[in-house]
Amino acid sequence: MKTMKILVNGERLRNTLEEFANFGRTENNGVTRLALTEEDRKARDYFCSCCEKIGMSVKVDDMGTIYATLEGVENNTRPIVMGSHLDTVKKGGRFDGVLGVVAGLEVARTLVEYGIKPKIPIVVANFTNEEGARFEPSIMASGVLSRKFKKSVMMNKTDTDGVTFEEALTTIGYVGDIKNRLTEAKAYLELHVEQGPVLETESLSIGVVECVVGMVCYEIEVTGESDHAGGAPMHMRKDALFSTINLITELREKLSGLDHELVYTIGRMNVHPNLHAVVPNKVVFSIDARHKDPEFVRQVEEIIQGLTHSHGKENCQVKCTKIWDRDTVWFDKEVCDSVEQSVKKLGYRYKRMVSGAGHDAQFLASYIPSAMVFAPSINGKSHAENELTTWEDCEKGANVLLETVLLMATKKE
Ligand SMILES: [Zn+2]
Repeated sequence: MKTMKILVNGERLRNTLEEFANFGRTENNGVTRLALTEEDRKARDYFCSCCEKIGMSVKVDDMGTIYATLEGVENNTRPIVMGSHLDTVKKGGRFDGVLGVVAGLEVARTLVEYGIKPKIPIVVANFTNEEGARFEPSIMASGVLSRKFKKSVMMNKTDTDGVTFEEALTTIGYVGDIKNRLTEAKAYLELHVEQGPVLETESLSIGVVECVVGMVCYEIEVTGESDHAGGAPMHMRKDALFSTINLITELREKLSGLDHELVYTIGRMNVHPNLHAVVPNKVVFSIDARHKDPEFVRQVEEIIQGLTHSHGKENCQVKCTKIWDRDTVWFDKEVCDSVEQSVKKLGYRYKRMVSGAGHDAQFLASYIPSAMVFAPSINGKSHAENELTTWEDCEKGANVLLETVLLMATKKE
């Protein structure tokens, strides 16, 4: 088995990806396939039929996650799982999520085609509602699997029409059995598009992802006083927006001095009362900061909390509230090393890197040795209709999965 060079079928991979894009394809060649909609059902049905066609057995768990298993020589042992998600955001792309599922399928197809029976079972999984675009939160089903979220709470989550997750799951016919949940595996491998510009900029084809970086998100409320834009002299105002500008400048100066890998975003800001002739009395804005090293995240929090002592020089009140945080999730070193070994064997240009975005693997990593493989995103675009990864890079990503599976499925326990 080791002497013969086995590669996936790039054309078949491309055709299958395009086939999936038909389930919810938009005018501008993107995809809208929100979780548990009719488009999602069609994509799921198609996925199941593709798997069954090559002799895989398909099971569904109580959160609607699908597992297709290719038998190994020994079947009473932990499998290697590949997968990701088939749902998309509204007007999303043709690669986010689906690439990891279809590449897993392509690996299984290749093994079957070459008559290779792996030593242990190979599972390809589609995790329900990764995007959280219809039912919040995101990464829902893997969150339930890893006990980060309570199933009963998730079942009652509603979309904007008031439909619950449970109703939607029942409607599309994907309520499975709790017994089918993924409880253990030798490894979980998730191929995903990078959703950032690093690989393309550095002319690399593969990212071996070592962790999903930790983050904090704060909401900062600056309170001043409203006055008439004509009547109040400048020195007598408590202008919450001018105060905010000073605070943000201060924040930017301090944060940019911390570390070049730190990323931070002020993505939301509301100005009150938001009228042209009224001095703003309140501004609320968010700041999201991410770094793999918890020490830098701690320093960011210290800087943010320090803002409350400042009045932004406009005599305003500053209140900081933490609304969300996440610790860095490190992937399994051995699985990462196996991926790297496979990439080297294939001769692809690569680097070890971090993921700034969350993925199914980040939750599964809490109980399964996991790793992620990134494929380049052209112009770094994702969650957009013009999301693009070249077919060649999709194929390379699938080959990395195949090579890693061959390596790990033959390794002694
Ligand atoms: Zn995704």
